[in-house]
Amino acid sequence: MILILLGPPGAGKGTQAKELAARRGLVQLSTGDMLRAAVAAGTAVGLKARPIMEKGLLVPDEIVIGILAERIEQPDCRNGVILDGFPRTLAQASALDDVLTNKKLKLDAVIELKVDDEVLVERISGRFSCAECGAGYHDAFKPTKVKDVCDACQATKFIRRKDDAPETVRARLLVYYRETSPLIGYYYCKGNLHVVSGMGPIGEVAAAIESIVEGAKA
Ligand code: ADP
Ligand code: ADP
Ligand code: ZN
Repeated sequence: MILILLGPPGAGKGTQAKELAARRGLVQLSTGDMLRAAVAAGTAVGLKARPIMEKGLLVPDEIVIGILAERIEQPDCRNGVILDGFPRTLAQASALDDVLTNKKLKLDAVIELKVDDEVLVERISGRFSCAECGAGYHDAFKPTKVKDVCDACQATKFIRRKDDAPETVRARLLVYYRETSPLIGYYYCKGNLHVVSGMGPIGEVAAAIESIVEGAKA
């Protein structure tokens, strides 16, 4: 099963992708996570991506397409994947079509998470994650059960993304509307698009996504 979660920064793509992956035995493929890992490891891709990501701009298509195409070939992806943060441009969407055609795979559903802009800013400004296992949290909306202790792995170190600072968030939103939102029309025309409100609580959004995925399976 191949699913795409589409939506602006802070919409809840990562949160929902992780839950859905756990529920259905799928693999979450987040190009943002892959790029941050490359930056942390100081690879050639990481060195190139770092200043671009810090500005909230998009890493060039050929780089992102390359890492995604390589990752999706790995044996753990055979059961199916949830693409989180990819594709982000029409060129990436078209490259994904080619990858899937070559592998004789079909795109099952594209789920657009719709969230108001003010709420996005609120979500991004409170976002943090576990430095050990990557579990995602929010100061107000999804705090850890025990203060400063990760629910999932009990680690006590957390990170906040540098590009989640308010001045970068505005740039990232603009990039979303300019470069990524045309994909909504692209997938609508292909008949793959499902729109979900991402405004409700995490569990409610998860239930709406679940019913779409259940329907797409048929
Ligand atoms: P968010 O979850 O807030 O939408 P991501 O973690 O997906 O953010 O992405 C963080 C940054 O990584 C982006 O601002 C961009 O610089 C880079 N990036 C991630 N995915 C892509 C992609 N598909 N194409 C180009 N750049 C990407
Ligand atoms: P994205 O991957 O789309 O950038 P995230 O999944 O990282 O978004 O979510 C952004 C922030 O909002 C995180 O701190 C997360 O805990 C929180 N969040 C996600 N979904 C919801 C929701 N439905 N209601 C309230 N907060 C949410
Ligand atoms: Zn953890």
